[in-house]
Amino acid sequence: MAIEVNEALAARVIELRRAIHRRPELGFEEHQTAALVERELDALGIEHRRLAKTGIVARISGTKAGPAVALRADMDALPIGERTGLSFASEVEGKMHACGHDAHTAMLLGAAHVLATMRGGLCGNVVLIFQPAEEGPGGALPMIEAGALDDPSVDAVAMLHVDSRLEVGTIGISPGGVSASADEFYVAVKGSGGHGAYPHTAVDAIPASAAIVLALQNVVARETDPLATAVVTVGTIEGGYRNNVIADEVNMSGTLRAQDPGVRDELEARVRRIVAGVASAYNVRADVRVVRGYPPVHNDAALAERFAQYLRERSSLIVERPAATMGAEDFAYFAQRAPGLLMRLGVRRESSGATHPGHSPQFRIDEAALPLGIIALVLFAIAVTSGEIRS
Ligand code: MN
Repeated sequence: MAIEVNEALAARVIELRRAIHRRPELGFEEHQTAALVERELDALGIEHRRLAKTGIVARISGTKAGPAVALRADMDALPIGERTGLSFASEVEGKMHACGHDAHTAMLLGAAHVLATMRGGLCGNVVLIFQPAEEGPGGALPMIEAGALDDPSVDAVAMLHVDSRLEVGTIGISPGGVSASADEFYVAVKGSGGHGAYPHTAVDAIPASAAIVLALQNVVARETDPLATAVVTVGTIEGGYRNNVIADEVNMSGTLRAQDPGVRDELEARVRRIVAGVASAYNVRADVRVVRGYPPVHNDAALAERFAQYLRERSSLIVERPAATMGAEDFAYFAQRAPGLLMRLGVRRESSGATHPGHSPQFRIDEAALPLGIIALVLFAIAVTSGEIRS
């Protein structure tokens, strides 16, 4: 079956996307966005419910029995002041849809339009998940805990993310790990202060901290399989008082990233061991605190391969296999509960100025990509509910 998005629907989806873009809302504050989603679902006669404050789960039931599929879009914006100069730029000071979640929400509503008209021929159930707070503190887990994947129990789940690396007309589908875990770490190094002229009477936290920063580079360089991927970044370091005072305390923070859950666990253990060892050598105390963030996203390999082939046969989309990134996505939690697929939608086009990456104040997408994203979402729903592809 080939899916088409007619001109009227394409225009409606652009209108929805721009309305959301004008009124960006941060995590768990997506009140106007959620209301817009609800109005559109009501107009289509699609049943829906609220979960996790500003989240919405809708369901389109087919007329025949079959599997259940979930399609997920995130709705939140970022605390960034927009500098695109677009006619529909953010009207809220210091907030911007700089990661394309406005487009994700609008495309899922577009898919709802198409699926609603196909209801008579549909098998099983299509669950539409409009999720808050992807940029933090995380809306996926609260939605899952509130039952987003339970009634009906979902057999596969997919999402689209706009991608400024890929040209309009292409879609990225890669099996296996596609994004990284993102864990925060904090190190507090404690010595004892004193006069800069009498170091032997104090325990200096500064050289100990310098040694810790350097020793941490060994985690990736010497202790991690070169064919695995990992990042250890120390992002902040602060301590000390003035030139002739020995610092009694230094505080550092950083991020740990990995695509493999085993490597992720090893990173934390290695950071703890190295910090403790260097602290002992330098006679300081060092406390390490790790705050776990999103896990890595793992695309179900069979689902990815089969749907890539399915899309090639039924759409004009060019299907690519982009490299994984070290960014993070809380879609990971959905993909832990059901076979999952994170797809990347090409939105890059030099001639329309759509070249800036996500999270840039100049980020913009080429809207010609929106109908293509809708086609991908609808085809995924049909492929799974008809039983044509499974993981
Ligand atoms: Mn995003």
